[in-house]
Amino acid sequence: MSQQLLNWINGEAKPAASQQWMENINPANGKVLSEIPRSQADDVDLAVAAAQACYEIGGGGQGGAGGLTEPQRTELLVAVAGAVEARLEEFALAESLDTGKPLGAATKMDIPRAVDNLRFFAHLLAGQKTDAVAMADGINYVLRRPLGVVALITPWNFPLHLLTWKLGPAIAMGNSVVAKPSEMTPSTAILLAEVFTQVGAPPGLFNVIHGLGGEAGDALVRHSQVKAVSFTGGTQTGKTIAATAAPALKKLSLELGGKNPSLVFEDCDFEATVAGTARAAFFNSGQVCLCGSRILVESQLHDKFTSALVEQARAMKTKLGPLISQSHRSKVKQYVDQALQDGAKLECGGEIFGPDEGAFFAPTVLTGLSHDCASAQEEIFGPVVSIHPFDDEQHALSLANDTAYGLSATIWTQDLGRAHRLAESIESGMVWINTWSKRDLRVPFGGMKQSGVGREGGRYSMEFFSQDRNICLQL
Ligand code: NDP
Repeated sequence: MSQQLLNWINGEAKPAASQQWMENINPANGKVLSEIPRSQADDVDLAVAAAQACYEIGGGGQGGAGGLTEPQRTELLVAVAGAVEARLEEFALAESLDTGKPLGAATKMDIPRAVDNLRFFAHLLAGQKTDAVAMADGINYVLRRPLGVVALITPWNFPLHLLTWKLGPAIAMGNSVVAKPSEMTPSTAILLAEVFTQVGAPPGLFNVIHGLGGEAGDALVRHSQVKAVSFTGGTQTGKTIAATAAPALKKLSLELGGKNPSLVFEDCDFEATVAGTARAAFFNSGQVCLCGSRILVESQLHDKFTSALVEQARAMKTKLGPLISQSHRSKVKQYVDQALQDGAKLECGGEIFGPDEGAFFAPTVLTGLSHDCASAQEEIFGPVVSIHPFDDEQHALSLANDTAYGLSATIWTQDLGRAHRLAESIESGMVWINTWSKRDLRVPFGGMKQSGVGREGGRYSMEFFSQDRNICLQL
């Protein structure tokens, strides 16, 4: 029998009440890694009750969950970060097996970033200030208080990194948490929950429920004691969650998909641009919401750029991990097949490879595709890019904005005046100029249009996971 991972409720490991289990599959070889509970509403009820009880120890809003003061919450998050770092190899292996991503990537990127997230929000807490507004005959001062129990629903592409990105500020601001990781990548969330308990976190502060989005996830979003939902994942799921949470007036942060343009001008630093656009296209096998999957290239440079990108794509083939599952790979393959029917030229890739049970897909470059085709408009979330020529800056801008999404954009040019003009006019939450995915944890992260609602990062996260109250005193 394979290993059984359990839910983590009130500081203890627990199976689902129904005793139903689901398989967790390694997408690199199709082998069953573990079984996880297929939790239902009654399991969610237990987790939320534990989180609510923990929150109430803090006075139901006067202090932090578990009765932890601000310095104690900082200390706790720093201790968790240190304990994860001390078990880096174990966490990285679990992340690599769940996602299929190379162990080196999990070791050098995913887990260290998770540690950074926890430390960053731990220390940011100390610098939190609120306003005081003096009147001629009165004074106002603002109290920032936790929300209560918050739900964190996270996807499978960067499981621990994205969980800690939400968990750090949620705990820092004094909330208690119930997390529902993707059922395809459950392992590091449960390791993290164990770490919380080991370093002495109050029971119920951080709870983890495994199961399907439509069952455990839905029950969590619906629960009347859950005050806020922070979600990262697909746009369609985001809409479903919003439809469930909005009537109960829950606070919502939705970080959704993207169909992000990379704009390449003839005056770019060619080598840096090719390397940067290839990374933006294929990093994590294209399973990144920020991926530059629509490459818009100034006409004169189109052929030269395409050849150079194809060379990079071919060289990356053996270095990338598989897609998250065989069914996700089928979806990606269908997009490529449809693009070919729509008249695309396959410059490279398009094929599955590797072990039969794995979910590998070769980095794929398409040209000659009309910009209104499904492959150029919809989020494929795989290593597939289409290249589209443009005539001038105005044409580039209209193509860049010709999408339902608005998460990120990247501009490659040495003309900084043009870069600024475009950066202001492209409808997207984040714009990079001559770089991609360069991140400072203090800046706002989030999208426009169908890419989401709200911003996370730095003080934006702190504000999301708290509520401000104004006190007015007559002098
Ligand atoms: P989802 O958006 O469905 O999954 C993200 C998380 O939401 C998972 O934990 C999932 O659980 C949960 N979830 C799903 N349905 C509900 C629900 N009704 N209520 C509460 N929680 C729910 O991603 P998919 O795995 O289905 O991928 C679909 C597409 O979404 C991808 O092809 C890609 O385009 C996009 N995507 C975008 C991501 C991003 O970073 N912006 C990340 C992942 C996907 P469970 O896994 O159990 O379904």
